[in-house]
Amino acid sequence: MLSVKAIRKDFPIFKRTILGRPLVYLDNAATSQRPKQVIAAVNDFYRRHNANVHRGIHTLSEEASNLYEEARATVAGFINCGSDELIFVRNTTEGINLVVWTWGFDHVRSGDEILVTVMEHHSNFVPWQQMAVRRGAVLRVADITEDGLLDMEDFKKKLSKKTKIVAVTHCSNVTGTINPVSEIVRLAKRVGAVVLIDGAQGVQHIGIDVKVVGCDFLAFSGHKMLGPMGSGGLFIKRERQEEMGPFLTGGGMIREVYATHFVWAEGPEKFEAGTPDVAGAVGLAEAVRYHTRLGMRYIRKHESNITAYALERLRDMKDMQIFGPSDVKVRGGVVSFTIKGIHPHDVAEVLNYRGVAVRSGTHCAMPLHDRFRVPATTRASFYLYNDKKDIDALISGLEQAKHIFR
Ligand code: PMP
Repeated sequence: MLSVKAIRKDFPIFKRTILGRPLVYLDNAATSQRPKQVIAAVNDFYRRHNANVHRGIHTLSEEASNLYEEARATVAGFINCGSDELIFVRNTTEGINLVVWTWGFDHVRSGDEILVTVMEHHSNFVPWQQMAVRRGAVLRVADITEDGLLDMEDFKKKLSKKTKIVAVTHCSNVTGTINPVSEIVRLAKRVGAVVLIDGAQGVQHIGIDVKVVGCDFLAFSGHKMLGPMGSGGLFIKRERQEEMGPFLTGGGMIREVYATHFVWAEGPEKFEAGTPDVAGAVGLAEAVRYHTRLGMRYIRKHESNITAYALERLRDMKDMQIFGPSDVKVRGGVVSFTIKGIHPHDVAEVLNYRGVAVRSGTHCAMPLHDRFRVPATTRASFYLYNDKKDIDALISGLEQAKHIFR
């Protein structure tokens, strides 16, 4: 078992109070908190090693370059890809856009199809909608079952030889639904489609081995996994990289430049134009090491236990509608719900007065809320530093909200 007490000591933010109460942070699907190890790694980079990478032969530049490439190897190792397959990006959104505007634009033609699911975050919807409009392609949307699982029959029905790319989240940021990504890849390969996985809620909570899963692309955000804001990763399988041109162009991504044309660099550099966020990469690698030290299996088990407890306590409350699967084997640590007669924003506000941070609204997943026929939900999302006491604080805050608004 994880020692939450010991873990929380690593997170300086838990020393502060919110409106006089201890902070109960249950907004991890939006962004996580940072441990002192990550803060120190970023700090240390700026204090001792700061220089631009890849361009200088002076000592600091060499140190910065080495730290940047070591960070790449560490992050790549976490998802089990080669260092040459890991591109540093700012976040999941940028990673998905990179794929859409490079591989997507070069391979998707008029009449081709793109298959997503109704539970996607806007970041895995809107870029594909854009491409479909501009390419004359068709965006198809696989449905969910009543308990919020991906409807595999509908998915299979919508997958065909016309499908060029399947883009699916590993774990929903609203229902916590964990999608069977290996099965999805197997089905997609049968029709010759490539697969992008949105790993924003998966990499740090469930863990993924891209070699085992067999996906072509995987995008994830550093800020949701204890890393710095503005850090993130995009895995691009070697074979796909060879089929792709660069995304942004300019310095850093070239091998040779002439007055009239250029030759681009190969490997991750091709996709990393301009000066990268070196401190961000160094901090992200430290965040990865934090997960590795604890062990992904333990993190997943711990979050499952908390989620099961939260579901049990919420189910015991009256007038509660909980979205997503009841079986924590197919559910990550995200629980969205509504309380009959109380607006989710009011719920979040009452909780905030008690130091409990949750999110209310549509969580960048309007199509899914439309599917559920609700305008908004309240969402509590858990991580390795949460425990059952946090859930108890959530429940007592919800009881108070019911008391105030009824
Ligand atoms: N996909 C999912 C499933 C998410 O939860 C999020 C963040 N809420 C994103 C994509 C977008 O992440 P970012 O804002 O870091 O790009």
